[in-house]
Amino acid sequence: RMNTKKITTSSQALDGLLGGGIETRTMTEFFGEFGSGKTQLCHQLSVNVQLPPEKGGLNGKAVYIDTEGTFRWERIEAMAKAVGLDPDTAMNNIYYMRAINSDHQMAIVEDLQELITKEPAIKLVIVDSVTSHFRAEYPGRENLAVRQQKLNKHLHQLVRLAEMYDIATIITNQVMARPDMFYGDPTVAVGGHTLYHVPGIRIQIKKSRGNKRIARVVDAPHLPEGEVVFAITEEGIRD
Ligand code: ATP
Ligand code: MG
Repeated sequence: RMNTKKITTSSQALDGLLGGGIETRTMTEFFGEFGSGKTQLCHQLSVNVQLPPEKGGLNGKAVYIDTEGTFRWERIEAMAKAVGLDPDTAMNNIYYMRAINSDHQMAIVEDLQELITKEPAIKLVIVDSVTSHFRAEYPGRENLAVRQQKLNKHLHQLVRLAEMYDIATIITNQVMARPDMFYGDPTVAVGGHTLYHVPGIRIQIKKSRGNKRIARVVDAPHLPEGEVVFAITEEGIRD
């Protein structure tokens, strides 16, 4: 994995699991049940990408594509302050886009090439969540084929953006918790083989006690196996 750069998650344990953080030229998927912390991680990374390299960032900017309306500027403000960034600057360095349906979501990503060319400081593109519109608009088995086809096209565009422009792309995907989730086939837990054949790093997140969460990397031969614990706090993601 040559020439990739890393963005810290603000958890040393999670960074350790990822070999230093979320990497550029790669699509990273956070998947897990509701409230597992996918959106909080996305907020944290859109702040942390702005940090200087010595603090785990890329002096970069972020694009945040919000499909569920769960983005909160107050969280950016709190997380920015906590890592020593000016909150107003931090907010200005995030291009916020609200995708109202799957076609809109796809169109936003198709248009990103133009924005990134004009704004090469963009080092992170987030789609939170990548699946919700597709699931709502193409429900059930009878729509599975068309849903897969559209979603695959969308995901491959995100992968291509990452590779072409040396940026990190992050997608989130809500999956229902199952008792055997960590040990069974996670692609089945996703409810179909939705994201199975798309290249990238998949991180499964599970709720633990209180504000603790458990993360595990799935199907990444170049990363060590195992689970780590991190926390979601008022200041953001922490150990
Ligand atoms: P969904 O699948 O429903 O989108 P998610 O995985 O995106 O869920 P998040 O929204 O990232 O989940 O996590 C929500 C959790 O984050 C809350 O339950 C709470 O534990 C924690 N959290 C959110 N805001 C704060 C805050 N200001 N201070 C501390 N913890 C917070
Ligand atoms: Mg969320």
